[in-house]
Amino acid sequence: MIGRAAVFILAAGIPVFAAQGSYVSICLDDTADVHLASLSFAERKASAIYSGIGVRLRWQDGGGCRDSTDLVRITITSLAPRDAPPGAMAYAYPYERKHVLVIYDRVRRLECDCRQNPALGYVLAHEIAHILQGINRHSESGILKAHWGRADYEAMLDGSLRFTPEDISLIHLGLNAMLARR
Ligand SMILES: [Zn+2]
Repeated sequence: MIGRAAVFILAAGIPVFAAQGSYVSICLDDTADVHLASLSFAERKASAIYSGIGVRLRWQDGGGCRDSTDLVRITITSLAPRDAPPGAMAYAYPYERKHVLVIYDRVRRLECDCRQNPALGYVLAHEIAHILQGINRHSESGILKAHWGRADYEAMLDGSLRFTPEDISLIHLGLNAMLARR
Protein backbone atom coordinates (compact mmCIF):
# COMPACT_ATOMS: atom_id res chain seq x y z
CA MET A 1 0.00 0.00 0.00
CA ILE A 2 1.18 3.48 -0.70
CA GLY A 3 0.54 5.58 2.33
CA ARG A 4 -0.08 9.20 3.05
CA ALA A 5 -0.06 11.86 0.36
CA ALA A 6 -3.72 11.55 -0.39
CA VAL A 7 -3.85 14.69 -2.43
CA PHE A 8 -1.37 15.97 -4.92
CA ILE A 9 -1.92 18.45 -7.66
CA LEU A 10 -0.75 17.54 -11.09
CA ALA A 11 -0.89 20.74 -12.99
CA ALA A 12 -2.42 20.79 -16.40
CA GLY A 13 -0.31 20.54 -19.48
CA ILE A 14 -0.42 22.46 -22.68
CA PRO A 15 -0.15 21.73 -26.38
CA VAL A 16 3.19 20.19 -27.15
CA PHE A 17 3.89 17.50 -29.66
CA ALA A 18 7.00 15.41 -30.08
CA ALA A 19 6.75 12.53 -32.45
CA GLN A 20 9.21 10.92 -34.77
CA GLY A 21 7.75 8.49 -37.25
CA SER A 22 5.13 6.53 -35.44
CA TYR A 23 6.78 7.14 -32.09
CA VAL A 24 6.29 9.84 -29.55
CA SER A 25 9.82 10.80 -28.64
CA ILE A 26 10.44 11.78 -25.06
CA CYS A 27 13.68 13.46 -24.07
CA LEU A 28 14.24 12.96 -20.38
CA ASP A 29 16.86 14.85 -18.43
CA ASP A 30 17.34 13.43 -14.97
CA THR A 31 19.04 16.05 -12.83
CA ALA A 32 17.85 14.39 -9.64
CA ASP A 33 20.04 11.33 -10.13
CA VAL A 34 17.14 8.97 -9.79
CA HIS A 35 18.38 5.44 -9.28
CA LEU A 36 18.78 3.93 -12.71
CA ALA A 37 16.59 0.96 -11.91
CA SER A 38 13.83 3.24 -10.65
CA LEU A 39 14.00 5.46 -13.70
CA SER A 40 14.04 2.52 -16.07
CA PHE A 41 11.08 1.02 -14.27
CA ALA A 42 9.17 4.30 -14.54
CA GLU A 43 9.87 4.59 -18.27
CA ARG A 44 8.80 1.00 -18.84
CA LYS A 45 5.65 1.58 -16.84
CA ALA A 46 4.74 4.69 -18.82
CA SER A 47 5.58 2.95 -22.08
CA ALA A 48 3.39 -0.01 -21.15
CA ILE A 49 0.50 2.31 -20.29
CA TYR A 50 0.76 3.99 -23.68
CA SER A 51 1.36 0.78 -25.55
CA GLY A 52 -1.94 -0.38 -24.14
CA ILE A 53 -3.71 2.47 -25.91
CA GLY A 54 -1.79 2.13 -29.15
CA VAL A 55 0.82 4.84 -28.62
CA ARG A 56 4.53 4.04 -28.66
CA LEU A 57 6.95 6.08 -26.60
CA ARG A 58 10.65 6.37 -27.34
CA TRP A 59 12.84 7.57 -24.52
CA GLN A 60 16.03 9.47 -25.08
CA ASP A 61 18.68 10.40 -22.61
CA GLY A 62 18.79 14.13 -21.91
CA GLY A 63 22.46 14.37 -22.74
CA GLY A 64 21.84 13.27 -26.30
CA CYS A 65 19.02 15.64 -27.19
CA ARG A 66 19.87 18.77 -25.28
CA ASP A 67 19.72 21.06 -28.29
CA SER A 68 16.83 19.46 -30.10
CA THR A 69 13.90 21.70 -30.92
CA ASP A 70 11.15 19.22 -31.59
CA LEU A 71 11.12 16.89 -28.61
CA VAL A 72 9.04 16.76 -25.50
CA ARG A 73 11.44 17.50 -22.73
CA ILE A 74 10.91 16.10 -19.27
CA THR A 75 13.28 17.28 -16.59
CA ILE A 76 13.39 15.49 -13.28
CA THR A 77 14.62 17.75 -10.52
CA SER A 78 15.22 17.06 -6.85
CA LEU A 79 13.81 20.18 -5.31
CA ALA A 80 10.76 22.21 -6.24
CA PRO A 81 11.38 25.60 -7.84
CA ARG A 82 10.07 28.52 -5.87
CA ASP A 83 7.24 29.03 -8.33
CA ALA A 84 6.12 25.40 -8.24
CA PRO A 85 2.48 24.86 -7.31
CA PRO A 86 2.25 23.69 -3.70
CA GLY A 87 2.11 19.92 -3.54
CA ALA A 88 2.52 19.41 -7.26
CA MET A 89 4.63 16.41 -8.17
CA ALA A 90 4.92 17.55 -11.76
CA TYR A 91 3.75 20.23 -14.12
CA ALA A 92 4.25 21.59 -17.59
CA TYR A 93 5.73 25.00 -18.21
CA PRO A 94 2.78 27.00 -19.50
CA TYR A 95 4.56 29.32 -21.93
CA GLU A 96 7.38 27.29 -23.37
CA ARG A 97 5.00 24.61 -24.66
CA LYS A 98 7.63 21.99 -24.41
CA HIS A 99 8.89 21.21 -20.96
CA VAL A 100 7.54 19.10 -18.17
CA LEU A 101 9.14 19.28 -14.76
CA VAL A 102 8.92 16.39 -12.33
CA ILE A 103 9.78 17.18 -8.71
CA TYR A 104 11.31 13.93 -7.61
CA ASP A 105 11.56 14.67 -3.90
CA ARG A 106 7.78 14.93 -3.84
CA VAL A 107 7.24 11.83 -5.91
CA ARG A 108 9.44 9.63 -3.78
CA ARG A 109 7.58 10.62 -0.63
CA LEU A 110 4.93 8.25 -1.89
CA GLU A 111 5.87 5.17 -0.01
CA CYS A 112 4.69 1.75 -0.97
CA ASP A 113 4.98 -1.73 0.40
CA CYS A 114 6.23 -2.98 -2.93
CA ARG A 115 9.45 -3.99 -4.61
CA GLN A 116 9.33 -1.12 -7.10
CA ASN A 117 7.23 1.98 -6.70
CA PRO A 118 5.10 2.64 -9.79
CA ALA A 119 4.27 6.25 -8.88
CA LEU A 120 6.92 7.92 -11.04
CA GLY A 121 5.77 6.00 -14.09
CA TYR A 122 2.21 7.15 -13.56
CA VAL A 123 3.33 10.75 -13.01
CA LEU A 124 5.16 10.60 -16.33
CA ALA A 125 2.13 9.07 -18.04
CA HIS A 126 -0.13 11.77 -16.62
CA GLU A 127 2.01 14.66 -17.81
CA ILE A 128 2.66 13.13 -21.22
CA ALA A 129 -1.09 12.83 -21.64
CA HIS A 130 -1.50 16.57 -21.09
CA ILE A 131 1.08 17.17 -23.75
CA LEU A 132 -0.43 14.81 -26.27
CA GLN A 133 -4.00 15.96 -25.70
CA GLY A 134 -2.98 19.58 -26.05
CA ILE A 135 -5.81 20.86 -23.90
CA ASN A 136 -6.09 21.82 -20.28
CA ARG A 137 -8.26 19.22 -18.65
CA HIS A 138 -8.39 16.47 -16.09
CA SER A 139 -10.64 13.48 -15.70
CA GLU A 140 -12.87 12.45 -12.85
CA SER A 141 -11.00 9.18 -12.48
CA GLY A 142 -7.92 7.32 -13.59
CA ILE A 143 -4.46 8.43 -14.64
CA LEU A 144 -5.59 11.91 -15.60
CA LYS A 145 -7.40 12.58 -12.35
CA ALA A 146 -6.23 15.89 -10.89
CA HIS A 147 -5.82 14.59 -7.36
CA TRP A 148 -4.92 10.99 -6.76
CA GLY A 149 -6.08 9.45 -3.53
CA ARG A 150 -5.24 6.30 -1.66
CA ALA A 151 -7.41 4.11 -3.87
CA ASP A 152 -5.63 5.45 -6.95
CA TYR A 153 -2.21 4.66 -5.52
CA GLU A 154 -3.37 1.20 -4.64
CA ALA A 155 -4.68 0.79 -8.18
CA MET A 156 -1.20 1.65 -9.47
CA LEU A 157 0.16 -1.34 -7.65
CA ASP A 158 -2.06 -3.82 -9.42
CA GLY A 159 -2.01 -1.96 -12.73
CA SER A 160 -5.70 -1.15 -12.70
CA LEU A 161 -5.29 2.64 -12.84
CA ARG A 162 -5.97 3.52 -16.45
CA PHE A 163 -6.92 6.30 -18.81
CA THR A 164 -10.62 6.83 -19.30
CA PRO A 165 -12.10 6.26 -22.79
CA GLU A 166 -12.34 10.04 -23.20
CA ASP A 167 -8.68 10.43 -22.24
CA ILE A 168 -7.71 7.88 -24.86
CA SER A 169 -9.80 9.49 -27.58
CA LEU A 170 -8.30 12.90 -26.86
CA ILE A 171 -4.76 11.53 -26.83
CA HIS A 172 -5.30 10.05 -30.28
CA LEU A 173 -6.99 13.19 -31.55
CA GLY A 174 -4.04 15.23 -30.36
CA LEU A 175 -1.55 12.90 -32.00
CA ASN A 176 -3.50 12.85 -35.23
CA ALA A 177 -3.63 16.63 -35.29
CA MET A 178 0.10 16.78 -34.83
CA LEU A 179 0.77 14.25 -37.56
CA ALA A 180 -1.54 16.12 -39.93
CA ARG A 181 0.56 19.24 -39.52
CA ARG A 182 3.84 17.53 -40.35
ZN1 LIG B 1 -2.59 17.11 -14.60
